[in-house]
Amino acid sequence: MSYDLIIVGGGVGGGALAAVMARAGRKVLLLEKSERYEDRVRGEWIAPWGVTETRRIGLYDTLMQAGGHHITDHVTYDENLAPEECEQAALPLGIFAPDVPGPLCLGHPHHCQTLYDAAREAGAESLRPVVIEKIITGKTPSVTFTHKGESRTAHAPLIVGAEGRQSEVRAAAGIPLHQDKPHHWFAGLLIENVEGWNPTRQAIGTEDNFGFLAFPQGNGRVRVYGGYALEEKGRFAGEGGAQRFLEAFRMNCAPDNAALAAGTPAGPLFSYFNNDSWTDEPFAEDCVLIGDAAGWNDPINGLGLSITYRDVRMVSDILKETPAGKAPDFTPYAEERAERMRRLRFAGQIQAALDMEFGETARERRRLYHERKAADPTLGLHGVAIMAGPENAPAEIFTEAHRARVLGLETA
Ligand SMILES: Cc1cc2nc3c(=O)[nH]c(=O)nc-3n(C[C@H](O)[C@H](O)[C@H](O)COP(=O)(O)OP(=O)(O)OC[C@H]3O[C@@H](n4cnc5c(N)ncnc54)[C@H](O)[C@@H]3O)c2cc1C
Repeated sequence: MSYDLIIVGGGVGGGALAAVMARAGRKVLLLEKSERYEDRVRGEWIAPWGVTETRRIGLYDTLMQAGGHHITDHVTYDENLAPEECEQAALPLGIFAPDVPGPLCLGHPHHCQTLYDAAREAGAESLRPVVIEKIITGKTPSVTFTHKGESRTAHAPLIVGAEGRQSEVRAAAGIPLHQDKPHHWFAGLLIENVEGWNPTRQAIGTEDNFGFLAFPQGNGRVRVYGGYALEEKGRFAGEGGAQRFLEAFRMNCAPDNAALAAGTPAGPLFSYFNNDSWTDEPFAEDCVLIGDAAGWNDPINGLGLSITYRDVRMVSDILKETPAGKAPDFTPYAEERAERMRRLRFAGQIQAALDMEFGETARERRRLYHERKAADPTLGLHGVAIMAGPENAPAEIFTEAHRARVLGLETA
């Protein structure tokens, strides 16, 4: 078994890279652990800059044909503001990337299956379920795995780690993962039969001890997330947890949320703590990491898929440009990714401090933020990094001076 590249993990990153490289005529082996994709409460919202990345690698039409749904405007609610005031200030989302009407939503399991099928159709050898037994990186890279009860060893000059947060390729290559401290709990649930919610409008908002996000998926489905304090670990655990979670969406500051609270759960409710992680260099001799395996951004920003699609674009471009028989140089990818993740970490910290901190001090900070931002829109520029891509926001917003301005720390 000899290939041009072996990709471990057939999620969005692995499936997309396999499809792109197989379409480019490379001999690809894609190895996926699961027998079928299930709702693990993962990303279903691609930011406008991520949509541009899907276009650049030739997968946008594939996602649209699979049922991709565009959202076109955004409302931020807040307990300090009247709902009508927030709705009048709705932000059109077609302004952030050329020819992109707004963020793109597609159910995560279906998204993964669509890419897995695209890879297979393009000629990638795609195997599932597999159990990885051994990964050897370095001089003669190989992956030994079990498939259908048979142990096999595959060889390739390059092994790609695309198997998410617990990457075995990352461990085998000895690439350290850095993580910052958890900031808040973040729970997600897919709901259906939602009546009375505008299907092209996304919304976020904070009231009392809960911050919500809602992303319509089309056909009466909405992916909802909620953030709450680290001390409230068991808040939505156990029997009745999903119903208690939906009840938390009923807010005076966002009356339309009643439509979400009345929705029917269409998947599991899972909670994660939100934080950031990163690798200094997401590659080593004969292996490279993409997507969450290379480090993830705080999901408060909803950018894991956009980050992953850019990884796929950069890594596939390097591979296509590398002459046969030469080792690819992933240094430009590593440098771009380090700065991209630094900026997004910064934007996420600001977003989390504003939306996912609770109590009197946090409420007053948000009130002042909204008041001052109305007079000085540059205070909201971290949102441009999230929607348009971190490279499209001015460098000075990723500084402590800007953080202090946004959060009012200079007067504290
Ligand atoms: C609560 C939450 C909400 C989020 N919301 C958003 C959002 O709205 N928008 C957004 O852009 N991002 C969001 N994200 C982030 C996003 O889901 C991830 O960044 C994205 O899924 C990363 O894709 P990936 O392919 O790198 O990894 P994964 O999605 O983790 O896929 C890895 C794949 O590898 C397989 N695998 C694992 N181990 C092995 C193994 N040993 N051998 C073979 N296969 C293996 C898995 O089965 C899986 O199919 C969210 C994350 C969380 C936690």
